[in-house]
Amino acid sequence: MPISPPDESLLEQTPMDLMDTYGRMRSLTDRADFQGTLPAIWQCSDESQSIKKALLGYVYNCPTFNLGRVGALLDPVRLSTAAHHGQDLVILGGSHIGAEEVSGVGYIRRINGQSVPCCGMLERVLGDYLRTYRRATQLIKISREASRVKIEVPYKYLFEKPAGETVRIRIHLNQLVEGEALGEGTLGKIYRLHPELVSDYPEVVNHLGTTPQPIGHLLHPETFSFSKKLNPESHEPKSMLEGSVFDFMPQIVSSVFPHRRLCNINTWRQFHRIASYITDGFDGSNRNIFVLAGLTIDHSIRHNSFIPQFGFWMEHGRALEARYFGPLEINELLAEQDVYRPPVTFLEYAGL
Ligand SMILES: [Zn+2]
Repeated sequence: MPISPPDESLLEQTPMDLMDTYGRMRSLTDRADFQGTLPAIWQCSDESQSIKKALLGYVYNCPTFNLGRVGALLDPVRLSTAAHHGQDLVILGGSHIGAEEVSGVGYIRRINGQSVPCCGMLERVLGDYLRTYRRATQLIKISREASRVKIEVPYKYLFEKPAGETVRIRIHLNQLVEGEALGEGTLGKIYRLHPELVSDYPEVVNHLGTTPQPIGHLLHPETFSFSKKLNPESHEPKSMLEGSVFDFMPQIVSSVFPHRRLCNINTWRQFHRIASYITDGFDGSNRNIFVLAGLTIDHSIRHNSFIPQFGFWMEHGRALEARYFGPLEINELLAEQDVYRPPVTFLEYAGL
């Protein structure tokens, strides 16, 4: 089993107004005596992230340096370049999601009037896995005859195949059934449903009759995994994102809001990449660095709010004493700060 990401309930902190978030970051870094501060950002290249990026520059009175790629994939190598452009660094990053949820996917309305998945890149990474999982939740059926709860598993899930170019679901039969097959069904073999599933989902099992029903959410993350031939050598963003979240896909697709869960797990992975790059692979000599990672909610292509989820704070280049903040701690830390307001208008900041 892979290391578990933080629970979704913990990551679902209250969204903050963007200028409020930035104003509190600025107060924090002012109090910590940041000097010659360069704001940097890793986020998707999506147009819905552009005003957000510009406003970070406005609050720090310095245009923002870009550390990210499509899908909010961090390019840590750019951090070394950023270090030549400023003394201290304040870094904001993470995935984004359209505020309107439809069937587990976040949507946004584009300038052309179309309502589309957003983050589109992460939705493309998710798509095949989600479809494969949802198909299995419909094709594997459960039913009940007197006290016997039965499950029919189609043959296509029973025959093991080597990992290929397309996503396949690999059913963990010993978590799903008990004992040998009872007989043949129309599509596959019929077994007794595993007793743990019977006792863990009484609200489903108690309502079963003799007509087979889709197994639905009883197909939980311990009952399956995915197989796919990944390409770890690829520098193409979709492959890199897929590789970094592949192990977590079972819990992503089976969560209530899979697209958002993927966004959050992506942010968690990228945050720890940047934090370890700063402490291990980067000459941070005497620098102050503050990193805030979280989920951006896109209400429109112009307007975002932000959920702080993770923080990292290194003072005077002292990597061993760097502090890490989880979802509760980072929100507490920001709540303690005043909201700094820029003394000039945005156009004045832009030199216009
Ligand atoms: Zn995106």
